[in-house]
Formats: sequence, structure tokens, C-alpha cells
Amino acid sequence: MLSEVSRGEADRDLRDLSEVELMTDRAALENLSAVFRAQGTIMVCHVCDEVNELIAGIIVLRASEEAWVLCGPCLRKIPMQGPLAS
Ligand SMILES: [Zn+2]
Repeated sequence: MLSEVSRGEADRDLRDLSEVELMTDRAALENLSAVFRAQGTIMVCHVCDEVNELIAGIIVLRASEEAWVLCGPCLRKIPMQGPLAS
């Protein structure tokens, strides 16, 4: 039972890795930020929770329908292949 669960988790992780998308489009980020503000909240980095850092990108995990909001410093810590939009 336990081993079945962990095997399923590993499968899901592998699928996530192949369907990760990094969104760094500044206009889209600002639009999203405006939507959050309109709801009385703000986008905060998922890694450091630093409210004063500007959000620089969002990592979308399509398989699990998760999105990680990341500030500039945290985004640069993540080893992504290919050039990041600046
Ligand atoms: Zn951060």
C-alpha cells in the first residue's frame, strides 16, 4: 500500500517536470498583479514570502495545475534551461 502510493508520487513528479512552463512576460505579470490587488490581496513569492520583492515570474506546473509565484532573487536561484526573459 505504502509503496504503491510513493510510486504514484514519483510518476506524477516526472510528468510535472515535462510540463513546466516559466512565465516571465512582464505585461502579463502586471495584469495578474492588478487582478490580485483588485481582490484586496497581493502576489507574494512562494519561496521567500517577501512582500516587498517584485514578482519576476510564475512557474506553471500543468500536470498538477499548480502555479508558483517567484520574485526576482528566487527566480534566479532556480536552474532553468534556456535563457530567461529579462
Ligand atoms: Zn522570493
